[in-house]
Amino acid sequence: MSKSAASKLAEHVRRATGVDVAECYQCGKCTAGCPMARWMDVVPSQIMRLVQIGDDEAAARLLSSAAIWVCAGCLTCTQRCPKKLDPAAVIDALRELSYQQGKVPASQRKVLAFHKAFLKVVEKAGRMSEIPLTALYKMTSGDLVSDVTLAPRMLVRGKLPLVPKVVRNRRQMKRIFAACRKGDRL
Ligand code: SF4
Ligand code: SF4
Repeated sequence: MSKSAASKLAEHVRRATGVDVAECYQCGKCTAGCPMARWMDVVPSQIMRLVQIGDDEAAARLLSSAAIWVCAGCLTCTQRCPKKLDPAAVIDALRELSYQQGKVPASQRKVLAFHKAFLKVVEKAGRMSEIPLTALYKMTSGDLVSDVTLAPRMLVRGKLPLVPKVVRNRRQMKRIFAACRKGDRL
């Protein structure tokens, strides 16, 4: 990728998140604190470096990486960064781009199904609700059997409320989702 195209990825990230990845000096503190790093094919500090490079190879590696879907969004990396950068937001922006460009790796399709089910439930009810979330996730991911043995124990402990709770002002929630779909700043 040419230099101008290379800076396009960093520029896209800057516009989406306000983070200037050029500020990252590769100290590795984000990676050292990341609880998910051991399961990532590209660790957070490498993600920042690849966005800095931003050529075709770097962009392809990032957008089809498992790491951006393995990230749990815990913000530890963001908290630890001595440059006050926000690697978690950078990963969010990359995840969005990966989805828009149809580059989600097959190994992470269930994670994508979970994200979609989660948002659908929140859009409808205004909050997360375990049973609708689980039912929707199972239907859309094809992952019908994993964790089913946990359900009876969770029910006994009151962790699976049978009647989903909804917020009062669901219309407001619909407005928020509509604005997000249009890309409006809220
Ligand atoms: S902690 Fe900040 S400066 Fe250090 S590698 Fe991570 S993003 Fe870069
Ligand atoms: S937000 Fe993601 S990348 Fe950052 S520490 Fe948490 S899991 Fe790791």
